Amino acid sequence: MSTSNADANDLESEYEALLSFMYLSPVGIVRSDKSGLVDMMNPLAAQLLMPLVKGGGIENIFDSLASVAPELRNLVASFEVERGPVCENHRVFVTPARDGAVVLACSIIKVGANLLMTVLTDISRQVDAERRARQTESWLAGIYTSVNDFAFFTLDAEGCIESWNPSVGQLTGFAETDVVGRTLSRFYAHDDIVLHRSPAHIALTRDEGWHVEECWCETKSGRRYWGQILIAVLREEEGDISGYSVVLRDVTERKVTSDNLARLLTTDHLTGVLSRAHFFEIAGSEVARAKRHSRALSVVMLDADYFKRINDTAGHQAGDEVLKRIADEAKGLLRESDTVARLGGEEFILMLPSTTTNEAMAVAERLRVAVERARIDTAVGQLKATVSLGVASLSPANPTLEGLLAAADRALYDAKRAGRNCVRGGFADPTDVDCSVCEDGKASETDGCPATATENDNSNSR
Ligand code: GH3
Ligand code: MG
Ligand code: MG
Repeated sequence: MSTSNADANDLESEYEALLSFMYLSPVGIVRSDKSGLVDMMNPLAAQLLMPLVKGGGIENIFDSLASVAPELRNLVASFEVERGPVCENHRVFVTPARDGAVVLACSIIKVGANLLMTVLTDISRQVDAERRARQTESWLAGIYTSVNDFAFFTLDAEGCIESWNPSVGQLTGFAETDVVGRTLSRFYAHDDIVLHRSPAHIALTRDEGWHVEECWCETKSGRRYWGQILIAVLREEEGDISGYSVVLRDVTERKVTSDNLARLLTTDHLTGVLSRAHFFEIAGSEVARAKRHSRALSVVMLDADYFKRINDTAGHQAGDEVLKRIADEAKGLLRESDTVARLGGEEFILMLPSTTTNEAMAVAERLRVAVERARIDTAVGQLKATVSLGVASLSPANPTLEGLLAAADRALYDAKRAGRNCVRGGFADPTDVDCSVCEDGKASETDGCPATATENDNSNSR
């Protein structure tokens, strides 16, 4: 074999190697002259260019790309040096720049005076990923800076505040030096500090991976807000907890709405006292508590007298004013632990824990007098009203809520029959201070019930 033959063979195998490289290459490769006339391309290049020529041929690379990258022809024409990169990873948007766009990176290398190699790479996924990253970035930037009811920061593994950013300043008013190194309790309202809250919050986050808690918080200037604190665990690659990320939000508006809702559900809209439904919700447990602690418990049932007549003569609205005034007089007489509820139209009930029959009779009489004396301002002038009241106490004869209410109802009926504007009831032996319904069922010595004896003193505050 001659040397030139050997050279030719070498060349041929090199050429074949180049061809198979091109063929298998994960990028599109096109060889053309300076004007773009293609003399060789690999299958991937054909695949990438085919959608652009819409059924036409790919004789000229610049023609093929003209609809999406007309600048390429000029780039090459103005590239005067004999060899070198004309462009590198020049982005060609085959479809408009948006989610799922087809994007090619185009590199053109001038390998000879009249020879170009064009490399095309589908970078759609990369561009998509970049887009997402940019979106996330701007979304995060939004959280960090512009949304003022959010604060986003991190805690170290011990639960101390580690990072500060403008969102923390915006929501809480605290500067970096005020908070870094402190625990979450820094944000809590001063009058709402529960010592174990912050550590417990962290412990729950460790167990669950994340935890949400809501409590009253306070800004540096003292403005209270209902804060929602979401904590999530941050882990090292090995799985150890490296810290926590925290989102603190001002959700006062939502809290106010739900508090309003709770108030609507538990109070009577006209008079502001407890609603009938809520009274029955709490009354059962009040009776059980009185029995458990061997304490007295009394109720006073009240019904406005001749109320229909008030409505008929003064009008419904004036009637409403009378009802409000009766409720106000009742509220004014009660202790912290007492409750007053509207059972129905012009009927109310007072529930008086730790109150004996005699004391309840006295409360009822005071209320009767208060209403009788009231001059009630209405749109049609001042009105007077009276009420009838029935009193009953927890006792062996009335050991349940139902029994208690039925006894009070009977007493009220007696008051009506007796001519109205009076108090009836308290049928139990006045010295029987209800210790007789202690849970062990044993009747205890009358005056000796210690709970009742001490609670009696409170009644003076009415
Ligand atoms: P008595 O002394 O026997 O209790 O007589 P009364 O007229 O008070 O009793 P009655 O049960 O006959 O009438 C109660 C009236 O209360 C009838 C009803 O229209 C009125 N009423 C019920 N609810 C309301 C309310 O919310 N506002 C007003 N203004 N009136 C009410
Ligand atoms: Mg009535
Ligand atoms: Mg009635």
